[in-house]
Amino acid sequence: MRKLSARLAAMLIAGLVAALPAAAPALSLIRDAETERTLRQMAAPLVKAAGMRAGSVDLYIVRSSQLNAFVAGGANMFLHTGLIDELEEPGQLMGVMAHEIGHIAGGHQVRRAINIRNAQGPALIAMLAGIAAAAAGGPQAGAAISAGATQALERSFLSYNRGEEASADQAALAYLERAGIDPAGFLEVLERFRGQEVFTVGNIDPYALTHPLSTQRMQLIEQKAAEARGRSFREDPEIAYWYGRARAKLEGFLDSPRRVLNRYEERDDELALYAKTVALHRLPAPREAVESADRLIAMRPGDPFYLELKGQILHESGRAREAVPLYRAAVAAAPEEPLLKAGLGRALLALEEPAADAEALRVLKEARDRDRGDPAALRDLAVAYSRAGDTGMATLATAERFALSGRSKDAVLHARRASALLPNGSPGWLRAQDILVLDKRDD
Ligand SMILES: [Zn+2]
Repeated sequence: MRKLSARLAAMLIAGLVAALPAAAPALSLIRDAETERTLRQMAAPLVKAAGMRAGSVDLYIVRSSQLNAFVAGGANMFLHTGLIDELEEPGQLMGVMAHEIGHIAGGHQVRRAINIRNAQGPALIAMLAGIAAAAAGGPQAGAAISAGATQALERSFLSYNRGEEASADQAALAYLERAGIDPAGFLEVLERFRGQEVFTVGNIDPYALTHPLSTQRMQLIEQKAAEARGRSFREDPEIAYWYGRARAKLEGFLDSPRRVLNRYEERDDELALYAKTVALHRLPAPREAVESADRLIAMRPGDPFYLELKGQILHESGRAREAVPLYRAAVAAAPEEPLLKAGLGRALLALEEPAADAEALRVLKEARDRDRGDPAALRDLAVAYSRAGDTGMATLATAERFALSGRSKDAVLHARRASALLPNGSPGWLRAQDILVLDKRDD
């Protein structure tokens, strides 16, 4: 019985791989300005150490409790929330990032021929999300391994061969050294996954499948970590602080609110308060959540993300008018963050007043120009265009939102409609053509 289902599972994986990137993504990407900024800051010294241009690696946060990190479609790095939750020290996650950047720099994606060359913007992100869904593997991947179908998975683009793993490790160790980061963190991560091949089906972390561990790998990294033991490494309190915040925030948003509140009942430090504020909001206990957010803001006046959180709590508890000034302050404190602008636009639309609608359209357009992968902003942008009477652009924003959520048929349908409504050759019309590449793929 098990054997049969495992074979079936292996076929499903093969089917999924063949169908990529048409398969609708079975997982969601988390968009959060603060968490993304922190991860970008952690990756930056490693990207630089790899001799790559700053900002050339795009980071995506996958909402999944499974432990995994992988690269897809070129320089796109996906990190599971489960991994961020598991790794308490920034040096550990930076070890993983260094290894992934090693795969990017080594061009290990090239042989995984996926035709995404024609895709741009939301269509590209949808395809990447489809790849991410396949890489998440889930129970099928575990079953395939148990039945000795390892090779099926290894042949796919989801896992690397030994040579690639070794070269990504070598590169990672060089980047960590150049960036002044202790390789001990990376060793700790690999020790966490060591020996997983003897685990039962459901207990294998996808990371161990996509990055097969070998004795040689462990020996090399153990040796480097031992060599580094005598050296002193510069602790970066800024990175440690922001990583702690990212973890507290994710915990607040992803764990059960009751559990979070119980866990931190006795603690009143900033990180505990952050997790509890989010948990109170989700409970929902809006009055307590606002009080708690005020305490965070008092600890760090002008912090854009604490202002954003209070704005979100107010807006989502039906107090959009009070949320608007909070979002304005957040945008003023971090004008380079499109997700904060999108929040301001959302709160403004909720006022349902012509002047606020006009301002919402302006800030949402700015947000969209800086960030083409935010489905919530696209939904709001469609509303703003529609209220302004611009049906063509509203339809385009809807097409882009469907593309992002993997609904290719709906995306193509709306992109055709938008093409017909928008002037031929205009920027909006061209963006509609970017979505139409999805039409060539099956659903
Ligand atoms: Zn690897």
